[in-house]
Amino acid sequence: MSTRVYDCLKAIGEKIIENRDFLTDLDREIGDADHGVNMARGFQSVIEKVSQDDSDIGASLKKAGMTLLSTVGGASGPLYGTAYMEAGKVLMGKETLTADDLKLALEAAIAGIQKRGKAEKGEKTMLDSLIPAYDVYCEKIGGGASIVDALDAACTAANEGIEFTKTIAATKGRASYLGDRSIGHQDPGATSLTLTLETIRDFLKG
Ligand SMILES: [Mg+2]
Repeated sequence: MSTRVYDCLKAIGEKIIENRDFLTDLDREIGDADHGVNMARGFQSVIEKVSQDDSDIGASLKKAGMTLLSTVGGASGPLYGTAYMEAGKVLMGKETLTADDLKLALEAAIAGIQKRGKAEKGEKTMLDSLIPAYDVYCEKIGGGASIVDALDAACTAANEGIEFTKTIAATKGRASYLGDRSIGHQDPGATSLTLTLETIRDFLKG
């Protein structure tokens, strides 16, 4: 990722902002119709507040996480904020990103989300995309795949994770109030998480 961490964060932000209404509509089905609006506001701040000149990947992610924490409302702010901050800690001082670095960053992000959200896979949350994506990513780099190829496979797993969230009832977050009526709807958090991974993949590819 070299010195382009800001550009990658900006690309993620633009993707989220572009999908603001889509994410909000998904949240309208099973939540309180604010996921896209909140995330778009948060990433607009990230684009404004993270320094374009800072080549330290960890420091930039940490700044992004703190910004998300303070600007995104609902459950997503603390969860995404924690994910970026924990990934940032692992990557502090790094100006380039190896396949192993990304593995450790994803691992830290997952651990942070699990701790903060007290969530596990199978509860119709972002983890239903993130954990399968991480597992496939590890398997691919373990087999010698490039970071982009491994991320490509991870994105496929993340999208399958979105499909999986349609088949289960939510047991975490506001959607859990709906119980079985949440079945049939895809999770907005799993969706924004997958958009994030796809943007990182496309960024590293390009
Ligand atoms: Mg919501």
